[in-house]
Amino acid sequence: MIGIVAVSHSQRLAEAAGELARQMVPNGSAPVRLAAGAGTEPDGTPILGTDATRVAAAIDELAAEVDGVLVLMDLGSAVMSAEMALEFRMSDVPVRLVPAPFVEGLLAASVAAAAGASLDAAAGEASGALLAKTAQLADPGEDDSAPDGDGTGGAVADGGEPAAVTRRVTVRNPLGIHARPAALIAEAAGGAEVRVRRLPSGPDAAAASLSRLLTLGARAGDEVELTGPAGAEDAVERIAALFQDGFGEVDDAMPGGAVGAALAETPEAPGTPAGGAVEAEPPAAVATAPAVAPPAPGATLRGRGVSAGRAGGPVVLLAPPVAEPPAGERVPLTEREAEAARIGAAADAVVAELADRASRATGDAAAILDATRLLAADPETIRAAGERVRAQGISAERAVWEEASAQEAAVAALGGRMAERAADLRDVRDRIIATLEGRERPGVPDRSDPFVLVAPDLAPADTAALAGGACVALVTEQGGPTSHTAIIARSLGLPAVVGAAGATAIPAGRPVLVDGERGTVRLDPSAAEIEEARGETETAPFDGDGRLADGTRIGLRANVGGAADAEAAAASGADGIGLFRTEFLFLDRHDAPSVAEQTAAYRAVLRPFAGRTVVVRTLDAGSDKPLPFATALSEENPALGVRGLRVARRAPGLLRDQLRAIADAAEAERTAVDVMAPMVATIAEAEEFVAACREAGLASAGVMIETPSAALLAPELLRVVDFVSLGTNDLAQYTMAADRQETELAALNDPWQPAVLRLIRIVGEAGRATGQPVGVCGEAAADPLLAPVLVGLGATSLSMSARALAGVSASLRRTDAQTCRRAADAAAGAASADDAREAAAAILAP
Ligand code: PEP
Ligand code: MG
Repeated sequence: MIGIVAVSHSQRLAEAAGELARQMVPNGSAPVRLAAGAGTEPDGTPILGTDATRVAAAIDELAAEVDGVLVLMDLGSAVMSAEMALEFRMSDVPVRLVPAPFVEGLLAASVAAAAGASLDAAAGEASGALLAKTAQLADPGEDDSAPDGDGTGGAVADGGEPAAVTRRVTVRNPLGIHARPAALIAEAAGGAEVRVRRLPSGPDAAAASLSRLLTLGARAGDEVELTGPAGAEDAVERIAALFQDGFGEVDDAMPGGAVGAALAETPEAPGTPAGGAVEAEPPAAVATAPAVAPPAPGATLRGRGVSAGRAGGPVVLLAPPVAEPPAGERVPLTEREAEAARIGAAADAVVAELADRASRATGDAAAILDATRLLAADPETIRAAGERVRAQGISAERAVWEEASAQEAAVAALGGRMAERAADLRDVRDRIIATLEGRERPGVPDRSDPFVLVAPDLAPADTAALAGGACVALVTEQGGPTSHTAIIARSLGLPAVVGAAGATAIPAGRPVLVDGERGTVRLDPSAAEIEEARGETETAPFDGDGRLADGTRIGLRANVGGAADAEAAAASGADGIGLFRTEFLFLDRHDAPSVAEQTAAYRAVLRPFAGRTVVVRTLDAGSDKPLPFATALSEENPALGVRGLRVARRAPGLLRDQLRAIADAAEAERTAVDVMAPMVATIAEAEEFVAACREAGLASAGVMIETPSAALLAPELLRVVDFVSLGTNDLAQYTMAADRQETELAALNDPWQPAVLRLIRIVGEAGRATGQPVGVCGEAAADPLLAPVLVGLGATSLSMSARALAGVSASLRRTDAQTCRRAADAAAGAASADDAREAAAAILAP
């Protein structure tokens, strides 16, 4: 196998090119290392440039796992750095510097590497990577034979041998053989000498060559011939199957219909009568929607909590999306110009409305409305849709739909975060079509009473429109932590859960309680529970000074998952961050973020808290937070499996890189950080973690107490680490042997359980004995009644969602250290969780 080093002046350019290349090949089959940028300014601004030592390090890093390294450079001094790197490197693996276009070359070389190409072959692929673009943009009068085609037009295998196997297939996917299908073909070829020819007399290309395949210019509806010599039968069949499947880009709910018919029709057939096969097809999206039974009374739906806080209210369902306009209607030739002009007028109206709303919104909401406005105003989209009307005679509504589908397929093909932008395109499409149809635009219904908005997915402009409205929480069936829904929900302080399957089957008006921290949506909460949740969000602001009535200082800190949370936490007066859950940066990715990316993300969290305590927890993957590149896909019992710090044993590089990024971020922000490991069970684990922290230059290292073992070993652990923090969510789960995700076991999963309180007391006493900090960062810390009990048990700081700070602070101010201890003794000595609550309440009652 060969590896690739991408040398660029810009880290971001290199990461984006690397991401594109990764989308093209199976995981890990073409190792790519980036050697980009020349570090960062103290304020985090990336410095553009290249650095020969980084290139050398990247080559050496790859040398251990590959037989050869291809180096691709962007421009200018990148070439010089790469040349110098050959002097600096320690390894002696064969290296080839290739004069190839950076982005196209990286894609082509990755695909070739994944298919097992030699260093020379991959270098050739990369060098020829501009051929597709050159051919596509060539003068239309030029001959369209392939640059490397043999021009015979017959079924001949490579080398002039008669083909042993020949198959004819049709391109079924709307975008034809673009980069992703080409990569799949190259992979399926598996080294066999299969050739692909566009019929009747188009160019041909080696199936193993991404760049040559792109020169075919094969589009939807084109016929293609596959040929191969003896022994290539299987490869030909695999490739034929890919064509048959439309490369996974054909929605079979719309059999050849909308897309196939629209693209197959040409301007030469203007009078095609309505009523053909296409017209007979039902609007597929509507006809095939499966009926889902409403969830049972009291049921809990689970998704991913992306914006912390709890809120409840009746469900309001987002208005159903715009239905697919019929494909069969034909506009007479004489009316097409006017029909096409309707698109521009409708887009103008949408643009004006979005501009108006953006002018009344602020912050992220305004920015997103503005971005949507720009998308709606895109002259190229309007022109292309108009062209569809003129050429095919379809309605303006249908043309907008088809143009948007084509663009959506293009961004979906890019995968990763780009794919999440498909929602933006659908949003604009629906707004323009609704305007064309003269009906109310789809979006958030107007309500004056508090409600929970439930939707399959939320368009960014919808989410932004929620600002200042009566919506108290958001639930979507789709979306990820980086979707606009998540970003806006956090900026508006609305609790939000995304990926909650079955949520849209909840009947409108049914009350639900949304927990944006746990990612749950519980049906039919009592009015008192909804009221209690409202209380959490409406308490007076925290004054930043956590202390007991007798003046004892208790650090009141915030739990955060990223920069937006950190800024909100700073604004609400949090006295530091008690738990930074770094895993949000890792989830939904195919591989780990680079050290530079992590450093930038950590800096953004540290910045608002410079000079105050920030406790960064290292990656807590596994169990309910699986990571494709680090955790096992199937474990019998994932909560008891390889999670938390245990993942570092399997992937030590992950921890090393993360600690390095944390140290870099702390240094760049000139602030101290406390670093702690999740899911620790033994003293040896703590020792290893502390050693890794010290090696990274991190002075303060701690562990979470989340297992009964760690709690019982607290006195010994505190000899090894600088501080501990109680993760009461997991401590309760593991102490009570009750899955914390299981609603039915909620009564067991209760930090008031005396067994849990007694374990906390062991930890608190160990901290008191040595004078070391004992924090609590599980949900227990946010309970205003439990907070004084935790202090009585020995906690020196409490960390919670920023919204809970004021309530907990008020509760602590009403009591002194001695009363806290009495309440703690009474609660820990009780026989049940309910008794513990009652005993504490009786002592702490104002
Ligand atoms: C805990 O277990 O209490 C904790 C804070 O960690 P998490 O909820 O992220 O598992
Ligand atoms: Mg935990």
